[in-house]
Amino acid sequence: LFVIIISPSLWIGLGVVVREYASLSHLHKQYFGFPGEILMRMLKLVILPLIISSMITGVAALDSEVSGKIGLRAVVYYFSTTIIAVILGIVLVMTIKPGVSQEAEHIDRTGTTPNVTTVDTLLDLVRNMFPENLLQACFQQVTVINITKDYKIVGSYSDGINVLGLIVFCVAFGLVIGKMGERGRILLEFFDALNEATMRLVQIIMCYMPVGILFLIAAKIIEVEDWEIFRKMGLYMVTVLSGLAIHSTICLPLIYFAIVRKNPYTFTLGMAQALVTALMISSSSATLPVTFRCAEENLRIDKRITRFVLPVGATINMDGTALYEAVAAIFIAQLNDYSLDVGQIVTISITATVASIGAAGVPNAGLVTMVIVLTAVGLPANDVTLIVAVDWLLDRFRTMINVLGDAYGAGIVQKLSRRELERMDITSDVDVTNPF
Ligand code: ASP
Repeated sequence: LFVIIISPSLWIGLGVVVREYASLSHLHKQYFGFPGEILMRMLKLVILPLIISSMITGVAALDSEVSGKIGLRAVVYYFSTTIIAVILGIVLVMTIKPGVSQEAEHIDRTGTTPNVTTVDTLLDLVRNMFPENLLQACFQQVTVINITKDYKIVGSYSDGINVLGLIVFCVAFGLVIGKMGERGRILLEFFDALNEATMRLVQIIMCYMPVGILFLIAAKIIEVEDWEIFRKMGLYMVTVLSGLAIHSTICLPLIYFAIVRKNPYTFTLGMAQALVTALMISSSSATLPVTFRCAEENLRIDKRITRFVLPVGATINMDGTALYEAVAAIFIAQLNDYSLDVGQIVTISITATVASIGAAGVPNAGLVTMVIVLTAVGLPANDVTLIVAVDWLLDRFRTMINVLGDAYGAGIVQKLSRRELERMDITSDVDVTNPF
């Protein structure tokens, strides 16, 4: 109750009160957001050791046949749920038609878009899988859109970690360690200890979380200057948000129930802290430490599964982003009076899926890869600026669904892999199954 209802009211209340009664200068607003900024920095700080240690131990603890099977199940789950999300988005946007009654001229079209094409993005995706320098992969290559205060996209810059490249490397490294027998054990134990130490750090960070989040949200509420835009874009936002709500409360729970036969809503509740974090910080990658804790501690999902499925999911499984991309592309088509044929709708579904896989787990990444979807059906890529103004809000909700989708994935893959895991419990003496 505290996490879901009381604390958000506190955050928003503080923001509204300060906004109304204190006239803060730009500098003061920055100071006000400082405790929140520190939380983001701490969460980002642990991503690197967390991904490296969890992926390497996750893969090394399984034999290659089992990890292959688990990987395949995870990928099938990622694809199917992403496609379901895209179809849901398309059905909703075609039914609600949020762009039909609106006039595009009313919304600011200024700004330039980063020059991203479909082929470039796909090539970049593959390129990022094979970083040429491991150290460089730890701090580069994520394209992040830069939005000015008046919603202009002024280009993109690099920030963060090349998570995909690290994952590919860690999977390969983990497989090799797993095959090295006794000599590989030293490394396995080292990374296992690193993982435990990182999770203990996460535990400490979580104590600071309520304070950090309070200021993060209050500062955002103080900062937003144009609330009017929400009225103009109301129907579009309702479409995206209802799609996300249906996907998270009906589609994913149904799939979970059909396979696992347990109450999906108890599962969602167990993830509450990670979901609130995702909502507050708009980044699946930065939420990863909390996602791990909720999945392992609250839901008791086997560590061999979480270590494998969660980091990959945070990078490539983005149901919320895929749904949003499909809705946004069709919304822009509607604003432009551009009628789409069946072929183009299929193209939107495919490119929205690819775009969600290509999007990094960082704030607003979906907006950059949106350009792939628009250009694929001949819509002006620059029109992505039409939806920039409300992206900071939608981004939070889609990130939350991205994280929920990853967690459900771990629960489902665990259920489907229980036989292999049981067999390994009998034959293996490496214990990475019990959290803490
Ligand atoms: N912010 C999202 C995430 O981290 C990606 C997006 O922009 O859709 O999952």
